[in-house]
Amino acid sequence: MTLAFAPQPPVLAPVDNDVQFPVRRLFCVGRNYAAHAREMGRDPDREPPFFFSAWAETVVTGDATIAYPQKTSNYHYEVELVVAIGKGGRNIPGEKAMDHVYGYAVGLDMTRRDLQLEAREQGRPWDTGKNVEQSKPLGLIRPAGPGFDPGHGKIKLSVNDSVRQDADLADLIWPVADVIAYLSGLYRIEPGDLIYTGTPAGVGAVVPGDVMTASIDGLAPLTVAVGAPVED
Ligand code: MN
Repeated sequence: MTLAFAPQPPVLAPVDNDVQFPVRRLFCVGRNYAAHAREMGRDPDREPPFFFSAWAETVVTGDATIAYPQKTSNYHYEVELVVAIGKGGRNIPGEKAMDHVYGYAVGLDMTRRDLQLEAREQGRPWDTGKNVEQSKPLGLIRPAGPGFDPGHGKIKLSVNDSVRQDADLADLIWPVADVIAYLSGLYRIEPGDLIYTGTPAGVGAVVPGDVMTASIDGLAPLTVAVGAPVED
């Protein structure tokens, strides 16, 4: 048997110098902070969480420069708490959900907002707005354990040292356990899955040359520069 071409190598996200987390799939929560739901023109009442997905290859690890993507003039940052799944399961009850977490990281859910809003208004899928090459930067994964509580802590994003997003994980409408419970009611979650848990208020556009710094108390911060428009 011969492969028609070399398969894509797995996307690996660093945990530390010795351990890499193989990324399988990305699930992202659509609206999970009330103030952000309002700024997007939506009612933040506790509707069940909803999800969109993205390819593993959209993940960019560590401090990096990402290309400015094609077909947008409104490329937005969204800082998010990312949950790395270490143990699979289906229909996981909330009280068991945290047993499935491998760790946590700071992530960015970069969005072609113009394409997302156009799709939203027309009742079309969000893929072209959200599932974008190099659009899901991810910081170092911190294994779950004492010293980090995903229910509390500052979550912030700055652009060129100006603070744009500043909230607390306690503001999540659906905390991590609830998100895992809901998601595993839709899919069997698997080791390697990443869940981007939603962004707080303050989203906005970046342009080539901007530098974003994202942080969550207790996790390694992430610095991502926006590079030139993508060419090839
Ligand atoms: Mn998001």
